[in-house]
Amino acid sequence: MIKTDVIIIGSGISGLVLSLLLKRKQIPHIVLDRLQKQKVMALAETLPPSAMTLLEELELLKLFEETALRKTYGYHSIWGSKTIQTKHFFDNNPFKYGLKIDKQTIRDTLKTNAETHILSYDLLENIAITSEKVCISTRYQKEKQHIQGKYIVDATGRNRALLHSLQIPIHHYDELISFSCHIPRAKHKHMVHDVFTESFAGGWGIVSGLCKNTQVMTLYTAKNTGLHKQLTDYSNWKTILADTKYLRKFLSKEIPDTILGGKANSSAPQHMAGNNWLAIGDAAMAFDPLSSHGITNAIYTAHRASQALIASSYTLENYKQDMQGIFTAYLDTKNKLYQREQRWSKEAFWETYNLQEV
Ligand SMILES: Cc1cc2nc3c(=O)[nH]c(=O)nc-3n(C[C@H](O)[C@H](O)[C@H](O)COP(=O)(O)OP(=O)(O)OC[C@H]3O[C@@H](n4cnc5c(N)ncnc54)[C@H](O)[C@@H]3O)c2cc1C
Repeated sequence: MIKTDVIIIGSGISGLVLSLLLKRKQIPHIVLDRLQKQKVMALAETLPPSAMTLLEELELLKLFEETALRKTYGYHSIWGSKTIQTKHFFDNNPFKYGLKIDKQTIRDTLKTNAETHILSYDLLENIAITSEKVCISTRYQKEKQHIQGKYIVDATGRNRALLHSLQIPIHHYDELISFSCHIPRAKHKHMVHDVFTESFAGGWGIVSGLCKNTQVMTLYTAKNTGLHKQLTDYSNWKTILADTKYLRKFLSKEIPDTILGGKANSSAPQHMAGNNWLAIGDAAMAFDPLSSHGITNAIYTAHRASQALIASSYTLENYKQDMQGIFTAYLDTKNKLYQREQRWSKEAFWETYNLQEV
């Protein structure tokens, strides 16, 4: 039996950043790292300039900058009208750049830091929580492991392994799904930045530079459009994007090896924390990728969770209320953003957002 203070389930960015922050304060903890089941694809995620301030405050800026694909200085978009809009980050303060990252590379670097705290497993067998302690049993290559802790943290992303085991209801605010693939890099003469977003009748899409020769294209839609069945086949993308101004021009003749689909909707549990448990990152609140704030949220919730687990002046109840407030504000901003696009307000995809309150 392993005895520790904090058991973190999940070794994504949220779980690993929490581990690093607890390690700095010498808080005994274990990160339960499930052997990878899900398919992964490099998505060249964006960290906006606002995230640099948080990283600097947490003394993580160097680690993220050194591991990032590159700095990013802005993006282009067509949203709400046919006109292309450009956002340059050099208007931002104090950081005039964001980062393009490969989540997997950042995770690997953070994992090296957390090495001595990581416990691998391939099967989670049981979680038992009482007011005094948390007991968990796992299996690793048929060998049973028992871990006992004072607190347990759900850092399993949208899977929400702990929250499901606690039977906490999850609220889903839309049905956004994503389809991503790698295509050869193409540059448009009017675009100085290598991130471009455009909406269309059945959803929206983004192209983002990954490396010298490759870019990632992701299209977002919802189940109620029926498009999700067609988007698994790249040969349909040309027809789906036929009315876009630029997005269609990025499509390649070659068929990509893989199209990776997944959930991308906004969701949150009814409660983000209890007596001796809490959720962080996507498990606590899953953001729409349009916000580019999912990873910032993973880092921020890990930071606040570390305070709730360490400082007596900041309780789990404070954490729960603060995070709920952030999620309410996020939903308001997101809905307003979607409602700025009125060109297809009667289409199934956009109608959903128009019916939501702002
Ligand atoms: C298509 C797409 C594009 C995105 N683009 C951006 C972007 O540009 N910028 C941005 O900031 N965010 C972006 N995001 C969101 C961002 O990726 C997430 O918000 C962020 O990775 C959440 O981190 P996390 O640690 O909470 O969860 P995750 O990264 O999901 O990590 C969870 C971990 O838990 C593990 N796990 C799952 N189930 C279990 C279990 N039962 N037991 C143990 N472990 C388990 C998983 O294997 C994983 O390692 C995007 C998301 C999508 C879908």
